[in-house]
Amino acid sequence: MAMSPENEHPVKAFGWAARDTSGHLSPFKFSRRATGENDVTFKVLYCGICHSDLHSIKNEWGITSYPIVPGHEIVGVITEIGTKVTKFKVGDKVGVGCMVGSCRSCANCKDDLENYCPKMILSYGAKNNDGTTTYGGYSDIMVSDEHFIIKIPDNLPLDGSAPLLCAGITVYSSLKYYGLNKAGMHLGIVGLGGLGHMAVKFAKAMGLKVTIISTSPNKKKEAMDHLGADAFLVSHNTEDMALAMGTMDGIIDTVSAVHALLPLFNLLKINGKLVMVGAPQKPLELLAFPLLMGRKMVGGSCIGGIQEMQEMIDFAAKHNIVADIELIPMDYVNTAMERLSKADIKYRFVIDITNSLKPF
Ligand SMILES: [Zn+2]
Ligand SMILES: [Zn+2]
Repeated sequence: MAMSPENEHPVKAFGWAARDTSGHLSPFKFSRRATGENDVTFKVLYCGICHSDLHSIKNEWGITSYPIVPGHEIVGVITEIGTKVTKFKVGDKVGVGCMVGSCRSCANCKDDLENYCPKMILSYGAKNNDGTTTYGGYSDIMVSDEHFIIKIPDNLPLDGSAPLLCAGITVYSSLKYYGLNKAGMHLGIVGLGGLGHMAVKFAKAMGLKVTIISTSPNKKKEAMDHLGADAFLVSHNTEDMALAMGTMDGIIDTVSAVHALLPLFNLLKINGKLVMVGAPQKPLELLAFPLLMGRKMVGGSCIGGIQEMQEMIDFAAKHNIVADIELIPMDYVNTAMERLSKADIKYRFVIDITNSLKPF
């Protein structure tokens, strides 16, 4: 007989879970495995709310099994380490992002690209090697093999650094892999939400010129005065878009709604790269001709490997990069999800787990 979430492991845990496609989150008792010899267990202090959490609790990608405890921007303080753990000690500030496991032996894993391992284990809603379900960071404790634990440098505030573990690495890894990280380059960023605002911060720290491309003219002041973007293009202003034609080395496209790509291709220089990090659920129209005529490229990128996540966090610490957040109590989470669905957030909700997740 299958064990219940509450007693399949020895360590009692609690968090908030969604039970069905309404996505409504409510208190949930479950359990975590005891600290294994290679494991790190930590008390969760903060957890960011990623757009993926919203998709997952409502089963919008069709792969959710309930109950689901979301959260993959998880930070906290280590309470216990296994006997063979070498990189961490009790009291260290650490985090876990989108994955808690991978095969560790395939070509991608050997290349430090665990994020592209066919057997990568997501931090929630996936199966551990023992067949039990993974539960995410809207919960009091977390346990993971030390390989998937990221050390958070002391100078970074923990609440603002939580979103680095998904939003941050997503933009950092794409900028780096596509060579869009060289000072003086001109980068376009489409969409100014959780990912977009992180992209501005990392790109500016790398010395790039940054232009925001947005449908909302009212975001201009904020983008330039507060986030430090160099220019702002309203995507339906054909005159301004025409003036900017052929000026960008690359574009990071964070938009997850269906949108036109042709105007973006036109903004690119010869050899320019359009990198998709948002995931529209329907196909986009891809015209080959404008790509051919400028040797342009369209690519994609998904989070990053563990080594690169540590590099990204250390870069963020050096340049004082954290997400702009709205810190919320656990019992506000359903309202936060509603607001997130309307993009009513600058720029990331982070749940104050330690001060507001109460046992019941
Ligand atoms: Zn995410
Ligand atoms: Zn692998």
